[in-house]
Amino acid sequence: MHEEVRVAIIGGGVTGLCAAHHLSKAFGTDSVLLIEGSDYVGGHTRTDQIDGFSCDWGPNGFLNREPLTLEWVDELGLTPELVLANEAAAHRFILKNDQLIEILGPPKFLLQPLLSVKGRARLLCEPMIRAKRDDAPESVWDFAARRIGREAADMMVGPMVSGIFAGDAHALSLAHCFPRMAAMERDYGTLFNALMAKRRVDKEASAMGPKGVLTSFAGGIGHLAQVATAKLGNRVRSGNRVTRLTKPNGTFRIETSAGLTVDAASVVVAVPAFAAAELTGELDPALSKTLRNIAYADCVVICTGYRKSHVSRDVNGFGFLVPRNQNKRLLGCLWTSSIFPKQAPDDWVLLRTIYGGYNDPDVVRLDDAQLLEHVRREVDPLLGISSKPEFVRIFRHFKGIPQYLLSHGTYLNEIEAAESRFPGLVMAGNAYRGVGLNDCVISAHRAVQRLTA
Ligand SMILES: Cc1cc2nc3c(=O)[nH]c(=O)nc-3n(C[C@H](O)[C@H](O)[C@H](O)COP(=O)(O)OP(=O)(O)OC[C@H]3O[C@@H](n4cnc5c(N)ncnc54)[C@H](O)[C@@H]3O)c2cc1C
Repeated sequence: MHEEVRVAIIGGGVTGLCAAHHLSKAFGTDSVLLIEGSDYVGGHTRTDQIDGFSCDWGPNGFLNREPLTLEWVDELGLTPELVLANEAAAHRFILKNDQLIEILGPPKFLLQPLLSVKGRARLLCEPMIRAKRDDAPESVWDFAARRIGREAADMMVGPMVSGIFAGDAHALSLAHCFPRMAAMERDYGTLFNALMAKRRVDKEASAMGPKGVLTSFAGGIGHLAQVATAKLGNRVRSGNRVTRLTKPNGTFRIETSAGLTVDAASVVVAVPAFAAAELTGELDPALSKTLRNIAYADCVVICTGYRKSHVSRDVNGFGFLVPRNQNKRLLGCLWTSSIFPKQAPDDWVLLRTIYGGYNDPDVVRLDDAQLLEHVRREVDPLLGISSKPEFVRIFRHFKGIPQYLLSHGTYLNEIEAAESRFPGLVMAGNAYRGVGLNDCVISAHRAVQRLTA
């Protein structure tokens, strides 16, 4: 089968869905075609609903601070259905010496045992540390150790990096993973000065991370992908893995595993970088090589459900993250039934335990029984769980999360150069400028702006 369109979008994750939505508005619905490799459209954004449990495969929501995401949600008619995380989710914990220690903001932070007295004293020196003057790439851990001390880098920043990137803070680039933090030092000299400056504008500004409340839907974040897909109607071709992208005579030609050929004036490539490397090999070998260099981490999400009476610890909170120096394999555990109470039946506790990451590539290959054994050994004692889980769902994400290593800036420059060589070609998605759902929406907007400029 052969089709001709104004714009083709390859990859139907959140990035592709959002780009298709806005490109349909710009060029008219019939001018746009979304081509997705698998039968499910939504990529990592997917929720299974079973026996009253809503289990998100990947993301469990987005922070409600990005106007572009809220605008898209609104245009999909979903604003009335948004559900904010329960207030209890403000209570977040870090594991230290087999104890869950709540993360508190200043000044209470100074009284809590997450850091030793020496570690807290070192953190208080932050306003005296001079800003880095050169442009050399710096890892997230090196930045944190330099500004707030090695202990705080290990106990506070490392777990945050695991929680967002399933990554290794020693390997990831500060400038590309946390550009706002890099800008705080660059613009204000110290993080303390930056926070004070922010507070003059916004009294609520916090030292505890980005503003915004985790937001989803009663039935899980997959609802967003389902509604966005339905809104595109007959402009979606699922089950069509793109195998080849060429530009034979002025127009892009896309060929899929299901025998579809599409000619398009413009193309948004919104698949993971390793998949984009495969399909651009013939079009631009240099681009393909760069894309192949972008690293990924595997991870596993294990959803387990227990009767409340079988969980003796108070799990009214967001959950906990685990510093890598605590000799545990799990990266963290989210208390889903507390964050979004409608995502589990009354009287049940639903947990999401995450394993894997950049430094543990083998865990994704363990079988279900082995993974559950890890949960029982590592989570049960911490939460006082006295029974096997009566509900289990396991999601493996092979090459699930891109890792922006120290060379990421070079890769971005090379990818932008390739976009300039092929006007009408835009690379979008979580592989480039942020992995959160909000970042994917921003990436989709960048694609739309380039194609409508
Ligand atoms: C376990 C996990 C937890 C996360 N938690 C959060 C969270 O709580 N909050 C948050 O904001 N973010 C979270 N993220 C990150 C966020 O989910 C992702 O960055 C985002 O969903 C990526 O969207 P995307 O559209 O760029 O890519 P994807 O979702 O990967 O979509 C890409 C699509 O391209 C398709 N594709 C691949 N190859 C081809 C091909 N050759 N032809 C056609 N189609 C192809 C795939 O099938 C897929 O549908 C999480 C990620 C994971 C893995």
